[in-house]
Amino acid sequence: MAQIIAGNWKMNGTAAGLGAYAAALRAAPGHAALVVCPPFPLLPGLAAALAGTKIAVGAQDCHAGESGAHTGDVSAVLLKEIGSAYVILGHSERRADHGESNAAVNGKVKAAVAAGLVPIVCVGETEQERDAGEAEDVVRTQLTHSLPESFSGLIAYEPIWAIGTGRTPSEADVAAMHAAIREALVAQFPASGTATPILYGGSVKPGNAAALLGLPEVGGALVGGASLNAADFLAIAAAAPSD
Ligand code: PEP
Repeated sequence: MAQIIAGNWKMNGTAAGLGAYAAALRAAPGHAALVVCPPFPLLPGLAAALAGTKIAVGAQDCHAGESGAHTGDVSAVLLKEIGSAYVILGHSERRADHGESNAAVNGKVKAAVAAGLVPIVCVGETEQERDAGEAEDVVRTQLTHSLPESFSGLIAYEPIWAIGTGRTPSEADVAAMHAAIREALVAQFPASGTATPILYGGSVKPGNAAALLGLPEVGGALVGGASLNAADFLAIAAAAPSD
């Protein structure tokens, strides 16, 4: 299965920069599946700029409802209508900045799946939790409560202390966590848990991508800062194993 390299632009990017970014991405190596998740207002423009390519566009959040009195929120149905194929849900920045609980993420995942979007559900521990030896338990709990019964989508393991810091876990720690996530997914979803891609996220750069993407049970990467630069994002995609 092709690895998935997803870029999370967070609250970055401009409408003026979309054309050049999309043009650069057209040179993407064919063996990885690319997804770019810009802020909401840039989604239609990026989808148009990437039309005719295999590169998908995704959002960074959605509401659990289809419509209604939810000022500032965006529904999964509308995201689908304007050309999104994916949506990042439960990112640690949303969990921290907007108080998103596992239960709230669960509702959003349901809405995304119902709308035909592929959710990228983020899980990961704080540094304190890792130091206390609780990382796997924390992530298992996030999976149990954030994923609805009929889940289909991707998981992104993102240790919070590795996001935007330039620090990454050891390769052994990434492999151990991905194995634990796989085991939890198989227990929770006996029919589909073996096939759910598990991305790694947290300070993935061109220089460490090959090592991280080559680890067992790593099915791709969720890339923040480095995805803003098309050349860096492409270099990460090129580092993905080709089989
Ligand atoms: C992220 O925000 O999902 C992320 C992984 O960021 P960065 O690559 O900048 O650490």
